[in-house]
Amino acid sequence: MAETKKLILARQRGFCGGVRAALSALEKLLDEHPDSPVCVLHELVHNRHVTSAFAGRGVRFLNDLDELPPDAVLLLGAHGVSPDTERQARKLAKLVVDTTCPLVKARQREAAKLSSADTLILLGHPRHPEVVGIVGGSGAGANLVVSSSAEAERVEVPSRPVLLTQTTFDAFELERCRGILEKRFPDLEFRGGVCSASLERQKCVEDLAHCVEAVVVAGSPHSSNARRLCETAERCGARGVLAEGAAELPRELFELRRVGLTAGASTPDADVDGMLAAFSAAGFDIENQPQEG
Ligand code: SF4
Repeated sequence: MAETKKLILARQRGFCGGVRAALSALEKLLDEHPDSPVCVLHELVHNRHVTSAFAGRGVRFLNDLDELPPDAVLLLGAHGVSPDTERQARKLAKLVVDTTCPLVKARQREAAKLSSADTLILLGHPRHPEVVGIVGGSGAGANLVVSSSAEAERVEVPSRPVLLTQTTFDAFELERCRGILEKRFPDLEFRGGVCSASLERQKCVEDLAHCVEAVVVAGSPHSSNARRLCETAERCGARGVLAEGAAELPRELFELRRVGLTAGASTPDADVDGMLAAFSAAGFDIENQPQEG
């Protein structure tokens, strides 16, 4: 008898608390300000389905504050912005709602406490809004963004080094970079790693990758945390497949016997549901990943 095909659904997946709070704040703004332009600076979350659904309801996503229309209400997303951007926003908009995740705020505060005698080493991706916001408010004399262990080997630090991390960075790569930096700079002070939501999602993928042939990550290609989940799967020996919806799933996945499924912190449940339906239609039994321990 042919072995049953199994799709194992990750324990922790999809929207984190910070993203949920930002999305409900935007819903509230739409309800309470039906006659004002409702705007979001950049994307609220890095997911094209979420962005286009809100754009269809009239929300305007701005690249820059110069684009703010008169009488607008403005939402600042979970990734946060620099203090200068926030000040400018408060001058220009009728109302500003700041939905920066408290965990990102904590990183921003750590960076702001630094002095000109410090060098901030921020592990993260240089153009990510969270990184731009943290560096923009940093009090350090020098700010260095490091995105890989190769860069950690090369970085030159002019003064006392303090290490912070983008909340969605890869936890494994963080430990590698931290080890290298601690060896090179024994006075390095570590003040903050990956957030617990990212950590839990990465840990679930690590466990999943050991018992499946491929892990599908539901998410947009520009989502930092979704890409990290794919890299985690690959590092742990499974094929990592990033797809926005069921239509993008490579056909050969349906020929496998065991596939894992997770979703980035900015991916709506509807995208996961569509993929579950596609696997189910292809003869897969759907199972939940067992609890830890
Ligand atoms: Fe907050 Fe972490 Fe979610 Fe970012 S990924 S919004 S830091 S909970």
